[in-house]
Amino acid sequence: MSTMVKPLIPLPRKMQESPGHVRIVKYPDSLFEIIADDHSHPVFQTAREKLTTALCGKTSSRSQCAGGYPIFLSIRPDEMVPQVADAYKLNITEEKAEIIGYDAGGALYGVVTLLQLLVCMNGENWHLPLVEIEDWPEFEDRGYFFETRWGSEFLTKKDYFEIIDYCANLKINQLTIGIYGCWNLQYDYRIAEYLYVPLHTHPELQTPSPITYYSAKKGGYVNRKNVLPTMFVEDFFGEVCAYAKTRNIKIKPLFNSLGHNTLIPRMHPDVSAKNTDGSPRNFGFCLTDEKTYDLMFSIYDEIIDKYLTPNGLDGFQIGLDEVRDEHAVDVDHPFEIKSPRCDCHVCKEHTYSKLFTQYIIRLTQHLKSKGMKHVYVYHDMLMNELDVLHDDFKQELIKAGIDDVLVIDYWSYRANKNDLFRGQADRVTNQFRGIMKPWNGYYHWMIPMASLVNIRLMAEIAKKKGFEGIESYAAFEYCYDQNQAYQAELSWNADELESMESFLGRYAARVSWNRQEEARKALDLLYPIMAGGGSVFDTNYYFYCYCRVGLPYPQNYPSTLFQKLIVTENGSRLNNLRKVAKEAGEAAAFFAFDLQGAPNDRIKLAWALTAKHYAVHADELATLLLLHNAFNAGTISEKGLLTSIGRLKEQRHDLIAFAECARMEATQYTYIRNMSLCYQLLADLERYLEDCINKNVRAKFDLTDLSHVTCKEFDLLR
Ligand SMILES: [Zn+2]
Repeated sequence: MSTMVKPLIPLPRKMQESPGHVRIVKYPDSLFEIIADDHSHPVFQTAREKLTTALCGKTSSRSQCAGGYPIFLSIRPDEMVPQVADAYKLNITEEKAEIIGYDAGGALYGVVTLLQLLVCMNGENWHLPLVEIEDWPEFEDRGYFFETRWGSEFLTKKDYFEIIDYCANLKINQLTIGIYGCWNLQYDYRIAEYLYVPLHTHPELQTPSPITYYSAKKGGYVNRKNVLPTMFVEDFFGEVCAYAKTRNIKIKPLFNSLGHNTLIPRMHPDVSAKNTDGSPRNFGFCLTDEKTYDLMFSIYDEIIDKYLTPNGLDGFQIGLDEVRDEHAVDVDHPFEIKSPRCDCHVCKEHTYSKLFTQYIIRLTQHLKSKGMKHVYVYHDMLMNELDVLHDDFKQELIKAGIDDVLVIDYWSYRANKNDLFRGQADRVTNQFRGIMKPWNGYYHWMIPMASLVNIRLMAEIAKKKGFEGIESYAAFEYCYDQNQAYQAELSWNADELESMESFLGRYAARVSWNRQEEARKALDLLYPIMAGGGSVFDTNYYFYCYCRVGLPYPQNYPSTLFQKLIVTENGSRLNNLRKVAKEAGEAAAFFAFDLQGAPNDRIKLAWALTAKHYAVHADELATLLLLHNAFNAGTISEKGLLTSIGRLKEQRHDLIAFAECARMEATQYTYIRNMSLCYQLLADLERYLEDCINKNVRAKFDLTDLSHVTCKEFDLLR
């Protein structure tokens, strides 16, 4: 019977299984009674409600059984070894179950674990295995970051609440929500700017954007203009903070305060970096003008007073990454390279290193005066560009009274140990407070990727350096469940750093408890492809939608891609693409089958969609390459070509239709927009070939130049 113990993620630190189990629901009847201490802590209330709702939900009467099998829920800090926040004990015997939290967070995590252990037998009876668990986290901070980026701007309050519950079930206790950040000129001839909270002190700061994609459901294009971020319109950031707090999750905002910044310096040229003649550059900030500080402080104060202080929150991420020369930051002059470093006569008197560190010190002092106890700043400028993470800076922080609040946020996303931190991981220092930021997945609008190796490497450094936490770099999507679950595991239980094998097995069970062996096979097929070994990743349109010096903007997609595949690489990727199509197709078949019993299971849906996406994308490219050769060698006719293109178009249409069912609406728009290009290209090819056949003229089918084929819709998407 010990095989009844469901694999847990994160894996508990100590777990003793005994043979046997205890039945707590004999459908339709309840056989249990929940006996909870009387605590008013909101997280404890959540723990009790969660336990009650989940267990009663298994009965027909949605009730408990007075005098039945007792399930005790309490907080008893004295009984815990080690005595750390969020620790818990869970003891399930034939006589009783006991969940004992070190604190309210521990009580909640004990409930989370108990519910994950619950198994259904014979389709109606619910059982718990006999286990004794002692569990506590490795890191005090276990968090994810949600970047201000495509898709996340349309997340609704309901989406956030569901995501918060998902995170709490992985014992995550920190979420950084990006609320302001800007990205270079890319899609739709616009600079991608995002502000997720309305600022009453600065109503001029707004970031409307378009939604454009081909909807298979509607059989036509969806075109919406000037859509503001949902959180901005409904102003629900405070409610998200409040909800998360009841789930033992602290929210902190990221408001990028220098890097990734075009909106503020464009709307407020007086604070922008200046040219030598004093004219504003509409990019970067002047770091010696008091107006810059007045503006930043007024924004910070509004955010803190409105959203953080009322919810007892005390963390703030100020960003300051990638403060570097950029092109594609001015729509009118996309190829002009602009520097964020101010050339006014006052700034010119100081080194940039001095200006930058003084800026951080003043921002942090202000935030500390507003009650912030944790002020996060990215490492890259301080470590790589300015090389100031040494004793002098430490002394300056001490002198300024902020060494206790400033936390260095170290990010690096490579999967090779020698590539981490540009090959300089030895420069990561624990002389300051620090957290590690692995990459959990970000381009959810493109094609989902795996980053388990990066997560493990970064967790190793966090452990070695004794950092206080691990918080991902990411934009949230359920398609990153495996990455998210692995980071949650290593943040909680660093004993699992040794090997990934145990996690992979338990993860397959998380995806499909009833078919874990087949799930493991399907996941094993996908993993190398998703980790970048499948020749697919860099063929995505996303890599061709940036404004690049030396190339036209918009880029000549897909001709540039096919020139690379056909001319530069001489078709050498074909076999690999066919292999990906076959293997991802096998995985897709399993996930589609596995979905049948649980059509609304988010994780199963995400996997089914990911596998199908890889299979379709790889098949489409491989088939187009084959057709290009065959048609130009004269081995197939226009009609043969048309039949194959028609098949590819149907296949892409089906994929889009599935994405419209499988994904959250918020992250659908951008994901399908990228796919819409592939669909439109096939539709254009089909129409062109039909035309040629009707007019009885020889078609030109050259993938390296499709300018005679693509229509207006395609060009607008590109
Ligand atoms: Zn200046």
